Parts: sequence; C-alpha cells; structure tokens
Amino acid sequence: MRPEILNPLFAALTDLKGVGPQLAKPLARLGLERVVDVLFHLPTGLISRIPVERLDQAQPGQTIIVDLTAQDYRSGRSPRAPFGVEAVDGAGDHVRLVYFGRTSGLARKLFPLGEKRRVSGRLDLYGDMRQIVHPDHVAEPGDETAIAEHEPVYPLTEGLTNARLSQLAEVALDRRPDLAEWIDAPLLASRGWPAWREAMARAHAGPRDEAARDRLAYDEIFASQVALMLIRQGLRNRKGRPIAGNGRLTGALKLPFGLTGAQERVGREIAGDMAQDVPMLRMLQGDVGSGKTLVALRAMLTAVEAGTQAALLAPTEILARQHHATLQQMLVGLPVNLAILTGRDKGKVRESTLMGLADGSIDILVGTHAIFQQAVGYRDLALVVVDEQHRFGVAQRLMLTDKGARPPHLLVMTATPIPRTLLLANHGEMDVSRLDEMPPGRTPVDTRVVSVDRLDEVIDGLGRHLASGAQAYWVCPLVAESEASELAAAEDRAALLRERFGADAVGLVHGRMKGPDKDAVMARFEAGEIGVLVATTVIEVGVNVPAASLMIVEHADRFGLAQLHQLRGRVGRGTAKSVCLLLRSQNLSETARERLALMRETNDGFVIAERDLELRGGGELLGLKQSGDADYRLATPEQLVRLLPVAHDDARLFVERDGGMDGPRGEAVRLCLYLFERDAAVPLLRSG
Ligand code: ADP
Ligand code: MG
Repeated sequence: MRPEILNPLFAALTDLKGVGPQLAKPLARLGLERVVDVLFHLPTGLISRIPVERLDQAQPGQTIIVDLTAQDYRSGRSPRAPFGVEAVDGAGDHVRLVYFGRTSGLARKLFPLGEKRRVSGRLDLYGDMRQIVHPDHVAEPGDETAIAEHEPVYPLTEGLTNARLSQLAEVALDRRPDLAEWIDAPLLASRGWPAWREAMARAHAGPRDEAARDRLAYDEIFASQVALMLIRQGLRNRKGRPIAGNGRLTGALKLPFGLTGAQERVGREIAGDMAQDVPMLRMLQGDVGSGKTLVALRAMLTAVEAGTQAALLAPTEILARQHHATLQQMLVGLPVNLAILTGRDKGKVRESTLMGLADGSIDILVGTHAIFQQAVGYRDLALVVVDEQHRFGVAQRLMLTDKGARPPHLLVMTATPIPRTLLLANHGEMDVSRLDEMPPGRTPVDTRVVSVDRLDEVIDGLGRHLASGAQAYWVCPLVAESEASELAAAEDRAALLRERFGADAVGLVHGRMKGPDKDAVMARFEAGEIGVLVATTVIEVGVNVPAASLMIVEHADRFGLAQLHQLRGRVGRGTAKSVCLLLRSQNLSETARERLALMRETNDGFVIAERDLELRGGGELLGLKQSGDADYRLATPEQLVRLLPVAHDDARLFVERDGGMDGPRGEAVRLCLYLFERDAAVPLLRSG
C-alpha cells in the first residue's frame, strides 16, 4: 500500500477545483493526469522581464514591464489589418501596442482610453517607432507583483496556456509533503543537493538550477535501480526450472543454411543458462538481420523437448503475426504445436487457445502482451522470449507475476545496440549475449546522405527503382510535439508520390491508424501490390519484406542514430543490392553532420551506438522522447549517463546491506519507490 503521506500527490487533477473535462483533455495529452504528473512536468525555459519606469530605459529586443496609458486606437482599413493602441509611458514617450488577427475587441477592453495599465512584452522598433506586439500580460497598475519578473515556461499543448499550467504547478507544489531523506547523507552533502521538497520548488522556478535538477534525476534513477536490483535479487532467490533438451527437435529443424558461429555460441550460452535452476535473465543483442529468430526458436524447441512450454512476446500485433508465420514455416514437419494469441482474438478461437495452453497441447505460443493476461494459464511455461521491448523492467516484472510456480527462464531480444550504461539503466543487470556476426551472403546497405534540395532527383530515382519491379520505403518522422502537422507531412508526401506513380502504387501507414487498417496496408506491401510504402516510424521494428531494397528517410537529422540504423535494417534483406538515402535539412549543425556521416561510414550497430553516446551523451539513442512511454520522466539522457554509475553503486549498497530493514533509510527508500511508481518491487524489500 502506498504510504499515506504520498496520497495528495496521486489525486486525480480533475479532483482539483477548476479542472474540468475541458482542461483535462489537453492535460492528458501531455500525460498529466495526477498531481504528481504536474509536479514532474518541469519547465524547460524561463522568461525574464525587466521592470522599467520609462521606455527610454529599455533596449529594443528586451522583454520589459512598464506602466502605460492608452491615448488612442488605430484600426487599419481592412478588418484584417493589425489593430494598434497608441500609448505613452510616465514621461510621455510613445509606444504602439499591436494586435493582429481581429483582436481589436480584446485590445479595446484591455486598454480603456486614458487609463493606466501595467504591461509586459517585448519592446521592438518598427522603423523608428517603438512597438510591442501582443503584450503577454496586461494588469491593473499599482500591483507590483501582478506580472512576474521571472516566469518559468512549461512544455505546452493546444488548449493549455503557460499561465494555467503555472497555476497548476503551484497547486501541486503546495501539496508536496516533507519526505524523509532517502539519499545517503555523505553523497547529498558532497554534491550540495537540496532536500527533495526544496529541490521540487527550485526545479519549477526555471530550468537552470543544476543542483535541484540533478537531485530529482538522481532520485528517479536511484528508484529504478533499487527496483531492478530487488527484482533481480528476488529472482535469484527463487528456484527456477532446469531445462535440458535432447536434440530431438532442434536436430530435426530443416534449415537451408548452417548456423553462423555467433548463433552457435549464443545458443550454447542460452542452453547453459536454461540448464540451471536459477532462472535465466539474458538479453540477446543482435543487429537487424543477424538471425535472432532462429536462436529464439532453438531455445524454445529445447523447452518443448523437455516437455514444457515456451512463449514469444512481440511488441505489436503485426510483429506477432509475422513471427507466427515465420515460425510456422520453419516448423513444417515437426511435431510441435504452435499457436498465436493477441488482443484481437476473441470468442471460440480464443477459448480453444486458452484450453490448449492449459492442457499443454500447445507447445509454443506467440502473441502480444495478451499472452500474460490473468485469464491465460499455462500448463508448464518454462521459457519466455521477449522481442524488442524497451520498457522499464516489464519483462522482469513478468517473471514475478505467478508467484507460486517456479519462474520461467527469460530471454529478451533486441536489435537496439544498447551500451552498457544504458542497459543498466533500463534493464538492470542482465546477462548479455551478442550476435556479432551476420549470416553470409549479405551485401551491406549502401548509405548516402542527400540534401533535401534534391528531392526531385530522389523521386526520379525512386521512379526508376519502382520501374525495375523493386519496392521501397519512404519514412517521414513523427515528432510528438507536433504530431498532427507531421502526420500531415506524411500524408502530403504520399499524395505527391501518388500523383506521380499512381494511387495504387503508394501505401501509407502511420501510428494513428487502427490495427486492422495498418495490417491491411502492410499485407499489400508484403504481397508486392504496393510499390512504395510511406510510413511514420511504425515500421521501425521487425518488418520483413525482402523485395524492398530502397529506403528513403526524410529529415534524417531528426532521428536518433539507433533509429536510423534500425530503419536501414529494413532493407538489405533480399539478394538485391540495397540503398538507403538519408535526406538531410539544409542547415545542419556540425554534430548533426558528423552523425549522418557516421551512418554512411559503418553498418555496425554497436559502433554506431557507442559513437552516438559519445557525440550526444546518449540522447537520441535511448529514443526516450520518441517512444512516448519513456521510462524516465525527470532524468535526461545526459543525466542518466552521468548519474547512473553513482545511483547504481548506492542502490547496490542499499539492497545488499540495508536491504529493506525496518530502519529509517528503508522507510525513506520505500517512499522513493512509491513516488516513482517502481513499487512493484516493494514486496521484495526484506522486512525485519
Ligand atoms: P533478426 O530478427 O535478428 O533481425 P531474423 O531472425 O529475422 O533476423 O533473420 C534474418 C534473415 O536471416 C531470415 O531470413 C533468416 O532466415 C536468415 N538467417 C538466419 N540465420 C541464418 C544463417 N545462419 N545463415 C543464413 N541465413 C540466416
Ligand atoms: Mg527479428
């Protein structure tokens, strides 16, 4: 149970006075649903205003606060022309307040002629006349505090003003309790960090208070490290299920090729783990196309040989279906019963799958997270394979769900080459196997960086490519802040290409489409009915269309390198030589240039990941912002890289030495875990 002292922070925002459904909507769009969400929604900027008595004390370009008296209105000839309020300061110096877009009514109301108002805004020169365009605040005169000299600027969305969000932040801050200190005293002192309560207030005052921000980031990282370690320790203390295969099925797999050396080696590592009575917790890292599926299949067959069941968890419906189809093909002629279960399976089909799982007639289940719902009971699940999942400890939590039984072995597969620090941050201490060798006969993808000025040439090239009967991807980035307009960009691009190549030749998939619609387009692309697939990054993971040998990425500079690398991995899957065109914006920073150059130079995902970490402190690499379900809300990637080693050591000391003792620090750490909602691990704190 959550400690009572935190309850005010977890109240719904709609319980607050003045927060109705109207406001709840834009708030929810920012992920703000409870008081604590607002508390953790920190300002990213700061407006500073300079109070002046007279206009001639200020420079053009400065944002000022000044008392002004309106003397006259000035409307343009057409109703669309800007509306002006002619005003003077105390010394009689003139300034025009300019309002665009039919806001004259508002302006007249704000500035009754002859009355003094306290005004803030950016002072500019228009010719040699002073003007302020759309003053940001207008208040009654006399109240010095009516307009803040320093105003934090929050990330916003349509329908939510900065003023409104600032008010909410104040309410949230008022509710924050005084919490017992969970950070080790010497560490706190040596860093000069404030206590949590003070840090919260300082972080909301503006973005530049490094001590406050670091402290909060540290809290979050520490909470997640403690949680991951407790989970890990909890697993170590539980008996797993030793699995030994006899080669009956793995030996009968008919492959048109031999295993690569890396597949052999990694296979041995996995089999070695599964033979232990400690549950396996292993990550399989391998670049796109390195043959992870086969490794997973062999592990699953080993489980089946031992008379147990295996499950493969895919991140999306599309990928689950693709995995199912691939595995089915590979299993032809083998006495293995393979089934699929996703959220979309309903009624009789679902019933019979559940039955087969319970009575053990299904050996291997592929699906989305639906395969771990309460209602799904396995006869004897011994191995779980998770494909491409990045979320905090989800996989590890999974292991704890069925507390009575012996936990299954866990294999997490990822094509994201995660450097050690970041692995630690998101997954805790997992064992790692790397598929560092590609299957033979693959020509590396030829990557070129092209300026977006040359769009016409690119489209001509695409035309020739399609005319030769090959297929292509065209990727437009989807940026969270302006999802709508980016989506429009993808739609525009599809429209342009349709004009050129015909409506039937071009398909469009994006993140806002319904599952079945998306699948339908993907299926047509896979069947070769569509020549070019325009997509937002929904194609990022796992799609396999060997006939697609051209990848065009628009605004390539907006992607993280790991993402670009994954995108590039969509091509180069057939025998044809593949090309990846990275379209870049016209004005690129030096770092952006270097990053794209790196993509051109190497096809090695691990090299890219490590270099990207150096170049940008890991920012894009984590895909934190892009993923939409970031594991860290306060810690920036840069802070993560910097503070994680400390948090890791501290968490280890705590778990190993103080591990949940009823002492004061144990109580405080409990608060911290609940505050950051890593409380799934709380039952694992040793008591007494
Ligand atoms: P990943 O999931 O790691 O991106 P896949 O498992 O989808 O890669 O494998 C990519 C392709 O390589 C598949 O078509 C697969 O059949 C093929 N493949 C896997 N292992 C080998 C191998 N040892 N030799 C040749 N081809 C292989
Ligand atoms: Mg794969």
